[in-house]
Formats: sequence, structure tokens, C-alpha cells
Amino acid sequence: MSRNPRLLLLPLLLCSLSNFCIAQDSVYTRSVIKRLCSPSYHGRGYVKNGDHRAADFLSAEFKKAGLTGPVQGGYFQGFAFPVNTFPTRLKVGLNKKQLEAGEDFIVHPGSPSCQGNYPVLRITRGPAHYRAEDLAGKWLLLDTSRAGNEIGKAEFREWVKHPPGGKGLLIVEPAKLTWSVSTSLNKSPVIYVLKKALPDTVFSLDIDIRSEFREHHTTRNVIGMIEGSTHKDSLLFICAHYDHLGRMGRKTYFPGANDNASGIAMLLNLARHYSKHRPACSMVFVAFAGEEAGLLGSKYYTEHPLWPMSHIRFLLNLDLLGTGEEGLMVVNASLFPDLFARLDSVNREKMFLPQLGKRGPAANSDHYWFSEAGVPAFFCYTMGGISAYHDIYDREETLPLTKFKECFQLFTGFLDTLQPSNRN
Ligand SMILES: [Zn+2]
Repeated sequence: MSRNPRLLLLPLLLCSLSNFCIAQDSVYTRSVIKRLCSPSYHGRGYVKNGDHRAADFLSAEFKKAGLTGPVQGGYFQGFAFPVNTFPTRLKVGLNKKQLEAGEDFIVHPGSPSCQGNYPVLRITRGPAHYRAEDLAGKWLLLDTSRAGNEIGKAEFREWVKHPPGGKGLLIVEPAKLTWSVSTSLNKSPVIYVLKKALPDTVFSLDIDIRSEFREHHTTRNVIGMIEGSTHKDSLLFICAHYDHLGRMGRKTYFPGANDNASGIAMLLNLARHYSKHRPACSMVFVAFAGEEAGLLGSKYYTEHPLWPMSHIRFLLNLDLLGTGEEGLMVVNASLFPDLFARLDSVNREKMFLPQLGKRGPAANSDHYWFSEAGVPAFFCYTMGGISAYHDIYDREETLPLTKFKECFQLFTGFLDTLQPSNRN
């Protein structure tokens, strides 16, 4: 070790310079989230090419950051799946009064088209108590929160799964509407109505919903890489899904700020960071498509990997990073206790987040297929703060990004410990 004081200054200077560089760019973060959540990206789903517009934007950002395209020189890995969509009309009225899509009601994502005016029958007992002919041509109102009905949980499930008749189901949600994506088409339509939008007595339903089932929707994973300086064949994967729920009718779309423009903004910040600080092993950045449709982009990737799966040292999946008041949850923590201890010690050293939560394996985001294939992987999401989730309120304007900067510092600190030393 040198004792020359002039040389001692050099690491100090480098250290302070690199500290200056190890920071996510908050202006860039906001601009990425704002853009991905804007109406012109259509909720990054399956209407008006929302997913393709997002993929084009991400590949351009990868290119600007200096990432190379590993898919025959490009960034896109295409695949296809069936999906039900609602690109045009979507009207629901009760007792001749129009409801607001997204605010007052949502349509079941697997619903077929339905038009007309129908009488509504309030259901108070299990399906076995009704005859098909009494239900024919009627919409059936299921309100389990209302006094005077005798529907247990099992009976409710029976009604939803195998209604003995009726034109469609009108299900009352007590507090929150949560939308999703369906890759199949149901036999009959289902509408979820928020309790506060429901009249005391419902006697009629005016409905005009048009669904378009697309058997073969093509979409793309976006993949970029930074080649390692010394260990090219050893890979660190960072991934986040960029798709969300898309549009529901002409007016309503789901912006998906926390889920998962926040994770994509983190992915891009990490890509920009590591392209300036070239790592020893190669780093692969994947923005997955089709996550909300059932983890389909990551499934496709693991079935069609670009490199042997055994070359992946570790995968970090970023999904829901817009809050953090209550810390960060780590899925798979109990599966990899040593790696979790390492992440936890990086956190404790600087107290980036108030706590790291531990969970076991869960099939709740894109890390899942990699875990199943034996790749060590964590899925990290922030806890606390806003509760908007899979609804029209998950917007950029109200996304706090409370611990976004700290998450970035935690991830870079942790990922650096996973880089191979020059000896291995
Ligand atoms: Zn998500």
C-alpha cells in the first residue's frame, strides 16, 4: 500500500467523483414516467399499439444509453398471445343514468360484447335456489355486502363461475375497482360496479360494450446489454415489465405509473449508470412485455433464452418502485438467505430504506420463470404510500417516488458486490 500522500488523494478524488455519478437522474426519472403514463401510450396495452409505442421508446433509450442489441443486432424479441380488448364503445347505465368507466364501473377483462336494455334481478341466495327460466334475459345483481342476502363465499364463487342462467352479472365492489388483462373470452359479460355508484334499487341496465378478441396479438420484449470488461460470459440480469392494462373503451385508460413505469425508470437509470461505469461481467437489461397478461414475456424469454440460463449469476426484477415509506419487500429473500443478508447489509450501512421485508417465492412478477429455471433472483417492490393499483388512479401526478433515489443507491451498492473480482 502506498503511503505517498499525493497518491492517497487520488482514490479520494475518484471516490467523490463516483459518488457524484452514482445518483439516479430525478429529472430523467420523472420524464420517463410521465411519458409512459401519457394518453399517447394508451396504458401500454393492446389498443392503438400502446405496447408497441412503449417498446419503440425503450429501444431508443437503450440505444441512447449505449446498450447493444443482442437479438441479431437488435433489441426486440417478438412473441404473440391471445388477448381480449375494448377499443371502442363502453357504456353502462343503471336506471337510465350513465356510469363513468373506470370511476364507477369496470368490465370484466374477459367479457364478450353485449348491447341492449335489460331488467335487473337482485340475487339473495345461492344458485341452487333459482331456475334458469326465471333468470332468462335478466342481468343478475350480486351485492354480498347488502343486508338480507344469504350468499356465502362459496356460493358467490359458484355464481361467478357457473351462473345457472341470466344475461350477465353485475357484481358490486364495496370499496375499490381493480382491472386486469384476459387472454380468454368468457361466455357471458360481467360488470363490476362500485357500491357508492349503485342506486338503492336497481331495476334496469343499459349496456353497450364491444369487445374485440385478438387471437394473435404480437408484442415485443426489449433487450439491451453492456458487455463485461473481463467476464463477458457471466451475466447479471436487470428486468422490469413495461406493459400495463391498456384502454377500456374509448375514453378510459390505465396509466400504470407505479405499475410499472416506476420499475422501467429504475431499469433505464441503471442502464445509463452501468454504461458509464462498465462492469466486469456483462449486464443484460430486459423490459418485458405481457406481464399483466400472465407473466408472458418472461415466460417466452425463458423458453427462448439468448444465452444459456446457467450463465445468469443473478436476476433483479423491478416492479412497483414508486413509494417506499415503509421500506422495500424482497420476494425470494428466504430462498437466498446469503444474498438477502448481503442486500440487507448494504442497506443498513447507509439506511437507504427504513427496512427490507422478506418473502418466500411467489409467482407475482417476471422473476418467477427465472426462479423456476434455477436462476438466483430477487423481486423488489416498495411498501407504503399510495394505494392506487390496477386502477385509473395509478398516475404520474400522484406517484410520490419517496425512496426512488435510495432504491437506486441500494441496488447499485448490492449489484456491485455481485461483480466477479479479478480472481474468479
Ligand atoms: Zn407490475
